[in-house]
Amino acid sequence: MKCVEEKQKSSRIYADWAATTPLCQRAKDAMLKAMEVTGNPSSVHTDGQQARELAEKARTQVAALINAEPSEIYFTSGATEANVWALKGFSFPLASAIEHKSVLSRPGRFPRTLPVNQDGLVYFDHRYSLVEGRPNICSVMAVNNETGVIQDVESLCKEAHERNMWFHTDATQAVGHIPVDVKKWGCDMLSMSAHKFGGPKGVGALFIRDGVSLPPMLYGGGQEGGLRAGTENVIGIAGMGAAAEFCKAKANQVSNYMEFLTRRIAGKVLSLEGVLLAGENAPRSPSICDFLFEGVEGPTLVLALDKRNVSASSGSACSEGVYGPSHVLKAMGMERYGSLRVSIGWSTTVEEADYIAEAIIESVRGLRK
Ligand code: PMP
Repeated sequence: MKCVEEKQKSSRIYADWAATTPLCQRAKDAMLKAMEVTGNPSSVHTDGQQARELAEKARTQVAALINAEPSEIYFTSGATEANVWALKGFSFPLASAIEHKSVLSRPGRFPRTLPVNQDGLVYFDHRYSLVEGRPNICSVMAVNNETGVIQDVESLCKEAHERNMWFHTDATQAVGHIPVDVKKWGCDMLSMSAHKFGGPKGVGALFIRDGVSLPPMLYGGGQEGGLRAGTENVIGIAGMGAAAEFCKAKANQVSNYMEFLTRRIAGKVLSLEGVLLAGENAPRSPSICDFLFEGVEGPTLVLALDKRNVSASSGSACSEGVYGPSHVLKAMGMERYGSLRVSIGWSTTVEEADYIAEAIIESVRGLRK
């Protein structure tokens, strides 16, 4: 099998796509073109309208990737902002125990958390109804950023609606990696970040279903329908739109290829003694493998791999270098293990995948001596 997009040769092997992906060629081209446009999208003159056109084209491209209407896409600085915004107006959110810190670190009343089973799948227990003040929104991520476990968003959304709650999903690791369809899922809000699917860092979006009313994230000049003020990041937005178009055009090819590679890596690494694959029995993202090793700390393994020119991570980039199990592994009852997240993408080659697996095996053997 051949990778979907060729890259320049490098002495290093990048296996940390869940932290951030390289820019895809279409995003680079779109951003270079956008750099030639001077206007402010709010200006009525031709220069301003050229910038407006770029932003609106990107809105349509992003909407098409998740089967939304362009009017339902609000650009933000990334998924952190989108997550914070989605929960902003709600006095009492309910979230799963394995959410990203941008959900779980919410100040004020800490969200009630929904549990996960050993495979990392979220389920509704009845704790949510035992607390005073009924939750009014439920937030469950579509794909976990550490384990790659895919949630059944459609059913969870249905369950939330049956309990009279709005439903938000953090789809940061899902968009561009697995099929995302907001109409089929039925969700009211959805967060995403461009740099997780071939776009630039510092730009993302919140999908807000038409009819759902949220307080503004930022007030001021009235941009983004008056809900997220501030002059638009036109270059970033153009890059995000182009990346969305790339992912939509290549969806099947990319996902089949990534699945082939992660299976190949997992097949080799699981031949070691004392290793588990987090969420092995659950549906998982084609781009992420989270290995749990007995007797080896994740950060130590990351450094050992770095010496072998492989960039991987222990858990998520946001908790990089932290020893001990993450909140995600704790919630899954996997506290005894050190974790190594390997994540690959459309330009990872088969040779690189084999090298990654060999480097892991040799590093683990070396560290266990
Ligand atoms: N949610 C998830 C699941 C993520 O993986 C990340 C990025 N690590 C975020 C939210 C935040 O994205 P950003 O840093 O681009 O704001």
